Amino acid sequence: MTVPTITLHDGTSIPQLGLGVFQVPPEDTARVVEQALEVGYRHIDTAQMYANEAEVGTGLTAAGIARDDLYITTKLNNGFHRPDDARRAFGESLNRLGLDRIDLFLIHWPLPTEYDGDFVSTWRTLAEFVDDGRATSIGVSNFQPAHLDRIVEETGVVPVVNQVEVHPFFGNEAVREANRRHDVLTEAWSPLAQGAIGGDDAIGEISTVTGKTPSQVVLRWHLQRGDIVFPKTTKVERMQENFDVFDFELTDNQMATIGELDRDEDGRRGPNPDTFDYIPD
Ligand code: NDP
Repeated sequence: MTVPTITLHDGTSIPQLGLGVFQVPPEDTARVVEQALEVGYRHIDTAQMYANEAEVGTGLTAAGIARDDLYITTKLNNGFHRPDDARRAFGESLNRLGLDRIDLFLIHWPLPTEYDGDFVSTWRTLAEFVDDGRATSIGVSNFQPAHLDRIVEETGVVPVVNQVEVHPFFGNEAVREANRRHDVLTEAWSPLAQGAIGGDDAIGEISTVTGKTPSQVVLRWHLQRGDIVFPKTTKVERMQENFDVFDFELTDNQMATIGELDRDEDGRRGPNPDTFDYIPD
């Protein structure tokens, strides 16, 4: 089975489905990455904050897949927004992952209440990594429409993606709309609402009708909306289940039924990017 790729505005392409490794313990990460690559995944989403980049690197090496067939994303940690820190931290990510190039490097959070609200100089710094060839593409994560408008206006450099919380209970439509306006692809984090979609009746009914699991139904919903997803699991059976979503289609009615589960801000499970100010020690 082949995962469709999406062409980003810089001309590169990204597999629309990958594996996320947030909250995968370091001691399990190499095994999880290797199993995912065996199942057929080629896109891995990690972050400096997840403290498992080195173990992602070990899994990649063990699997022995050609570098050009892999798509690896990592993200700048919140403590490293100052340009010199960002340069150092980016180099450290390359070393930990055992790569000389990262496919996609993101600012993890905008932190508008920290660093005097200056995420623009951080963004300019990421552009250096594309210029010197060590990052193929750069993007952002958790950027609200105003944050996105500001970096594009002040630097002229448009992120290829904006990775934000999106799932049936939190459609995040204002951000998705801002992304579309700038030709930025939406990456939907917590696509399964961290497992909570399993208890929803409407999704359960569509699952019965289609003969697919609730997770497969919801991943299919994201894919048909055109978003990029990387559900997290440490279990190989679920990796297979989440990967097996390319042989059916949801009808317009089923898409709309899932769309109606949107509870707007009440459906958000993670922090609000306008106020989130966490900086690890
Ligand atoms: P997900 O929506 O991917 O849900 C993961 C949870 O669902 C886990 O508890 C997992 O359990 C369970 N699960 C996975 N597959 C199935 C299945 N088929 N059936 C039942 N349960 C299942 O949540 P995440 O928050 O992990 O988001 C995914 C990825 O998004 C992250 O790993 C990370 O890469 C990214 N992310 C980015 C953020 C950002 O700020 N940029 C923030 C949060 C996430 P188990 O492991 O036991 O299978």
